[in-house]
Amino acid sequence: MSASSPSALGPVPSLDSLRAPLPAETDVAIVGGGIAGAALAFYLARAGVEVVLVDRGELNREASGTNAGSFHLQLAIHQLSGAGTGADRDRLLADARLSLEAYRLWQELDDELDGDVHLHETGGWMVAETPEQVQVLRDKHELEQLAGIETEVVEGDALRERAPYLSPRVLAATYCPTEGHADPLSVTPLYAVRAAEHGAQLRTHVSVQAIDHHPDQPHRFTVRTDQGDLRARRVVDCAGAWSGEVAAMVGLRLPVRHEGLHVNVTERRPRLLPSMVQHIGRRLTLKQSSQGTFIIGGGWPAPAVPLPQRYPTRWQSAAGNVAVALDVVPALGDARVVRTWSGVIVFTDDMSPVVGESELVPGFFACIASTGFTFSPMFARQLAAQMSAPGEHEPFPERYAVDRAQP
Ligand SMILES: Cc1cc2nc3c(=O)[nH]c(=O)nc-3n(C[C@H](O)[C@H](O)[C@H](O)COP(=O)(O)OP(=O)(O)OC[C@H]3O[C@@H](n4cnc5c(N)ncnc54)[C@H](O)[C@@H]3O)c2cc1C
Repeated sequence: MSASSPSALGPVPSLDSLRAPLPAETDVAIVGGGIAGAALAFYLARAGVEVVLVDRGELNREASGTNAGSFHLQLAIHQLSGAGTGADRDRLLADARLSLEAYRLWQELDDELDGDVHLHETGGWMVAETPEQVQVLRDKHELEQLAGIETEVVEGDALRERAPYLSPRVLAATYCPTEGHADPLSVTPLYAVRAAEHGAQLRTHVSVQAIDHHPDQPHRFTVRTDQGDLRARRVVDCAGAWSGEVAAMVGLRLPVRHEGLHVNVTERRPRLLPSMVQHIGRRLTLKQSSQGTFIIGGGWPAPAVPLPQRYPTRWQSAAGNVAVALDVVPALGDARVVRTWSGVIVFTDDMSPVVGESELVPGFFACIASTGFTFSPMFARQLAAQMSAPGEHEPFPERYAVDRAQP
């Protein structure tokens, strides 16, 4: 790897190496240079595995670089839907336990990557405005306690005292002291730089267009790109919102769909919000950055358009998202929104991630998660451990199975 100008990250892979010709072959080809792909490249290369990562655009340009940067450790509304059945309760408990593992990884990440991912452990509120929502908070708090996640239900005077910025409309809230946020613009580049230092080859502006499968050859896959062919023993689908298209290239159907999401940011304001705020029943995540701006998101839609266009933002989403924020934190009333942007997120139909190796197409792996800024580093580390020492680690739970959506 040649180095260009130094930065806070240390030497940055030069454009020459990112745009160098593709190698002819590799052990592992990773498709996608977001947080999942870059983290996986790092953990594999560090374990001595030969890796080539390709992305059709720039690294960190899609969901991983456009997200809101929150760690969501409390169980959220999309996870809780249908929580009544035993199976759902087991899933929620397992999800909550995973959150703890993800949290521990994030705490170690600066040291592991020898850099600064701008981790701020600010704590987080999840608020309720109706008696029904308060009950959901209580139920989820019970599950979180069982799983070992520290949360508490706060209401009445105690809530007013501890969070005077919350509107009187807020009847109760759960507080989780270990939630917070990190910088989406730092984490993936840092993983990528450290992966390259360990020998991973990263290539941008390489679009994967087809994958040929030759099960009887040592290099079981030929990854066909607009920059030539790459033969690989193993392929990992880290293509996020487009992971279904990449899996379809080897004949697999993944249980994924994607949606455009809208985010807003305001001008800088004096310090008001020490902790992140989410809503248990309405689409809101809200936090004040260390620069003083408020980042307002929570899942408002951005309409889909064909590539290479980027999903546009909509005034309806900006207005709707800001209206919920004002209902919850009225003091935002005089903060002007100065920028909006969109990103494309992948959702799995059953809320579980897609991580591991396909049994139908051995050698084809996936690493895909919806709350992926929080969880992808952990899944990437677990997957890298399995791939670098096959058979020596606990297999992933059945509900993560890559093949589970096959007809
Ligand atoms: C607006 C928004 C807000 C979010 N907020 C949060 C949050 O606060 N907290 C949280 O935990 N998560 C959040 N998420 C989710 C999180 O950002 C994603 O789950 C995570 O970034 C997914 O990472 P990834 O690497 O799997 O995918 P991506 O970052 O999307 O990367 C996939 C890469 O694959 C490449 N690719 C696709 N097809 C091909 C191909 N054929 N050939 C070559 N390359 C290809 C793409 O160019 C892209 O770079 C948010 C997402 C969005 C969109």
